[in-house]
Amino acid sequence: MPLDSTTAALYKDIVHRNPAEPEFHQAVAEVLHSIQPVLQQRPELGDNALLQRLCEPERQVIFRVTWTDDKGNAHVNRGFRVGFSSALGPYKGGLRFHRSVTLGTVKFLAFEQIFKNALTGLGIGGGKGGSDFDPSGRSDGEIMRFCQAYMTELHRHIGPHTDVPAGDIGVGGREIGYLFGQYKRITNRFDAGALTGKDLNIGGSQARPEATGYGAVYFLEAMLAERGHTLEGKTAVVSGSGNVAQYALVKLHQLGAKVVACSDSTGTLYDPTGIRADILHEVKQVQRRKLDHYVELVSSARFAPDRRPWDIPCDIALPSATQNELGEADAVSLAKNNLIALAEGANMPCTPEAIKVFQEARIAFGPGKAANAGGVATSGLEMQQNAARTKWSFEHTEQTLARIMRSIHHTCLVTAADHGKPGDYITGANVAGFLTVASAMNTLGL
Ligand code: GLU
Repeated sequence: MPLDSTTAALYKDIVHRNPAEPEFHQAVAEVLHSIQPVLQQRPELGDNALLQRLCEPERQVIFRVTWTDDKGNAHVNRGFRVGFSSALGPYKGGLRFHRSVTLGTVKFLAFEQIFKNALTGLGIGGGKGGSDFDPSGRSDGEIMRFCQAYMTELHRHIGPHTDVPAGDIGVGGREIGYLFGQYKRITNRFDAGALTGKDLNIGGSQARPEATGYGAVYFLEAMLAERGHTLEGKTAVVSGSGNVAQYALVKLHQLGAKVVACSDSTGTLYDPTGIRADILHEVKQVQRRKLDHYVELVSSARFAPDRRPWDIPCDIALPSATQNELGEADAVSLAKNNLIALAEGANMPCTPEAIKVFQEARIAFGPGKAANAGGVATSGLEMQQNAARTKWSFEHTEQTLARIMRSIHHTCLVTAADHGKPGDYITGANVAGFLTVASAMNTLGL
């Protein structure tokens, strides 16, 4: 829906005040368009500069991170942490270590996190952080020293009731362990609830590594069920080969689908007999090698350098690599090959032009805010376990995750229908998230 004149002026102002941050503008524009029907029905929600406040981060921290490599050379990187909204609870969201990270990237991710976290119903606000540090090819010792240097500054901004970081691209269990170690050392407190995504031996939750990928598949399963389909016998293509992609693949196979392709920054892996999760895990997580190594271990697999996977025929697609990785031409090719459903495992992986193609082709489209909320939801469950000094079983945690994902799916569907857009999960996710946050902001006052 086009923006009304007040919202259009607000958006123009946001672009003006946040120059050279196109991903942030893109994320804001999507939400503002989605909530137009709500603003028309309930003008009181626009009072008290609510939209201005919602689109302005509560805090943005930028800091220098100095660390030494294995040869003793000093390096300087930039660290970021954006606390976007604490209306629903402590800031919550991951840390991304990737050379492309800028303040604009972190702001877009933190903004998305506000609505995603609201959808989980777990009382967590929205935040995100990261660094332009490039972890590729770095030794374990270098990763540890970088994480320690990063936390030496970050520690003063976080805490179980203030801001609770976790992982994202380039930050997994190993990095969270080093970050938590430094946090504990500096603060002299074993505050397990200050970081999530921890290993089990230091207060982590069962099913947290699996949660984003598993959750996306549960969401996909619910979208398919709405259209009278199941995952049984479906062919799937996943992009990425990190934490989200790997566990999405495991769950898709468990539920009877076959994943024939995945990718990394160097190209696409294709195996018509189905990609093996155990070998993928060995190549990417254990050996930390590039995807081409997989074909040395599995004879039916082929690796296409510099190719992306979207021209491979499939029933379901899970873009799980990074933002804006799937454009209009990719969407056209997927639609031509009769794609039934797509769930965003990554944050904002589809461009607005691609989304338009999917909507026009009536392909079920699960936006990242809803479809990949399983990771942060299970982080919320980790916080609950830490606060209660308890540990849940894998089964209980996974069942709770599945229940949350089905509930998010239901909320999106009902909200979309209530706002004149039946079956539009983007409207459903943005409107439901917005209503929850806006109501808390109004209750809290200025
Ligand atoms: N980085 C993940 C996300 O995009 C997880 C964040 C968290 O667990 O706090 O939602």
